[in-house]
Amino acid sequence: MSGLTSLHRTLEQELLAVLRGASLECLVCGEFVLHEGALVRCPECGMQLHGRLAGAGSATDAAGQQAG
Ligand SMILES: [Zn+2]
Repeated sequence: MSGLTSLHRTLEQELLAVLRGASLECLVCGEFVLHEGALVRCPECGMQLHGRLAGAGSATDAAGQQAG
């Protein structure tokens, strides 16, 4: 019954691998993806991933505006 959880974890790791460039296979169709700056795009199915791994989230932005 833990299949879903392990599947989710695998997908997440695959996602990170693609974003880092460690994997070049599309998560949807398995074709090779293209890295365009911070964007990872699949020309086959149109999937797009935004490679914002560091500093994700707007919490840091809000904290920065406290000063003043
Ligand atoms: Zn694809």
